Amino acid sequence: MGYASAMKMIGLIGGMSWESSAEYYRILNQGVRDRQGPTASARCLLWSFDFSEIERLQHAGDWSGLELRMVDAARRLEAGGAGILLICTNTMHRMADQVQAAVAIPLLHIADPTARAIRARGFRRVGLLGTAFTMEQDFYKGRLRDRHGLDVLIPEAEDRATVHRIIYEELVAGVVTGESRAAYRAVIARLVARGAEAVILGCTEIMLLVRPEDSAVPLFDTTALHAEAAVAAALADQSA
Ligand code: GLU
Repeated sequence: MGYASAMKMIGLIGGMSWESSAEYYRILNQGVRDRQGPTASARCLLWSFDFSEIERLQHAGDWSGLELRMVDAARRLEAGGAGILLICTNTMHRMADQVQAAVAIPLLHIADPTARAIRARGFRRVGLLGTAFTMEQDFYKGRLRDRHGLDVLIPEAEDRATVHRIIYEELVAGVVTGESRAAYRAVIARLVARGAEAVILGCTEIMLLVRPEDSAVPLFDTTALHAEAAVAAALADQSA
């Protein structure tokens, strides 16, 4: 049963939201094409959630219900032949350790390629934009700090509420407005004024709204960095 392929199958836990999963799909395929030639494309499996259910559980604080779903998806992707696993949202990395413990294949943590790209450019003090869960809880900032030595700044409370609201009310619904872009620009400017040398787009939909020209300092887009790291990992054995 089955067959060998030098390119690893990338398992994606997605649909959180599908707006960003579509970007992952595009970046993965483009990345493989760029490296392997015009007809080459990524070997991947996508487990796509109904985001309305995920969002409801998040806002109810039902993290154990969410963990159950992430672990179930990971096991299904592994059983389907995935050789690498990605959780296509920053927020759901809250249960990254439990997901990794449930499968034998490696989970590629979204914060790691992001932090490596930031350190490679010589930055240490970074602003973080994301959902309130990502900005306020320690699971994400803690990893950036403890594993990568980054000093993480988050927006003030009112700005965090704005950033969070725009993600859940607009970006996951595919709504991109000039008004919200201006709001993000102002939040970024305030982080820069407080000393941020770079800013992490730590929610996989923010890249739909914010562009490099919206910031005085470099932006690090977790969607692109995560997907590009997956391409590198999927093709790692091919050069051997
Ligand atoms: N995609 C977003 C993130 O990267 C938010 C959606 C979610 O809560 O999973 O955090």
